[in-house]
Amino acid sequence: MEIKENISLTNYTSFHIGGTVRYLLTADSPESVVRAVHFAQEKQLPLFVIGEGSNLLISDEHQNACFLHMKNNTITQDTLTPGEIVVTADAGVLWDDLVAHTVVNGLSGLECLSGIPGSVGAAPVQNIGAYGQECKDAFISLTAYDRDTHSWVTLSKEDVNFSYRNSLFKHFPDRYIITDVSFRLTKSRPPQPTYQSLVAYLQTNHIHHPTVQDLREAILFLRKTKLPDPTVIGSAGSFFKNPVVTNKVFQRVQRTFPDVPSIKLSTDAIKLFAGWLIEKAGLKGVREGGAQVYEQNSLVITNATGQATASDVKKLAERITKQVNDQFGITLLPEVEYVRYL
Ligand SMILES: Cc1cc2nc3c(=O)[nH]c(=O)nc-3n(C[C@H](O)[C@H](O)[C@H](O)COP(=O)(O)OP(=O)(O)OC[C@H]3O[C@@H](n4cnc5c(N)ncnc54)[C@H](O)[C@@H]3O)c2cc1C
Repeated sequence: MEIKENISLTNYTSFHIGGTVRYLLTADSPESVVRAVHFAQEKQLPLFVIGEGSNLLISDEHQNACFLHMKNNTITQDTLTPGEIVVTADAGVLWDDLVAHTVVNGLSGLECLSGIPGSVGAAPVQNIGAYGQECKDAFISLTAYDRDTHSWVTLSKEDVNFSYRNSLFKHFPDRYIITDVSFRLTKSRPPQPTYQSLVAYLQTNHIHHPTVQDLREAILFLRKTKLPDPTVIGSAGSFFKNPVVTNKVFQRVQRTFPDVPSIKLSTDAIKLFAGWLIEKAGLKGVREGGAQVYEQNSLVITNATGQATASDVKKLAERITKQVNDQFGITLLPEVEYVRYL
């Protein structure tokens, strides 16, 4: 286990925002995870697991805590049946390196999650999703250290209880340290995509029966048009979750905006698009200090000046939430996690 003291977190988040942290610990083995837990206990400090910091807004103040970063980095592969492969990746593997590995090997199951920043260990936490695929779809199980029982556990799909940008880990944020995740992938051709912008891209490019490689390339291209590159403009991707509303609320919005885009999930559950609501609330491009609603995609808040503070982002997020609520009577919930240990 590596220990660093009083480290600035600006280089550890995709927003390029965050104060200093008392101890930054790095673990590359199960033994060093346990050592990190004991270290934090001895120091009587909370222990927060940080991946690549791409879904976090860390406050500008000094974080009186230990942050643990997983650095284990192995991917292994086992044949389950002639057409089914189990791929297990360590928590410290970059998510897109795992997706690239599966695509190069012609395996289907994760290709639509191409280009999502972050680590493998964080992927189940918010059940990452994009272009009609979610982490849960190919997920089999994961290994984690349970800080409540001080034991190693294997958690199945049922245990993790995935839903939209949600899982067990959101409800027990201080309990588990994930060290590896296993997925079941297939050697068969990927299912025909249904996600609108992806279908349109494939049609335009005359790709009628896409391979996993075709889908990866298409998605990497599409993502570039919608999302800022965190190495150039800081952000945490989508700042808010897409709200799910009742029929009554949907019809109220539809009376003013007959073209409101939506997805019917069930008879009384309709998913609306937070980015659309933010844009219609007149907030596209709006600034608060160094933070800005991204012009190309109102769902994203950026560190536009490179000097934005966490409180700039927070103020802008609060302004968005209030204005959308005032105009539509819909409460937006953040997808990004606010971290503050004083
Ligand atoms: C430009 C951009 C685009 C994005 N696009 C998408 C998208 O299309 N779809 C999507 O779903 N998300 C997207 N995101 C959000 C982000 O990429 C994901 O949430 C990602 O899984 C975060 O990974 P991370 O390693 O950076 O985790 P962090 O942000 O560091 O942490 C996120 C949470 O996971 C926990 N965690 C991290 N590692 C572990 C571990 N080993 N054990 C236990 N808990 C852990 C942390 O404590 C924290 O609660 C995007 C972000 C950016 C910046």
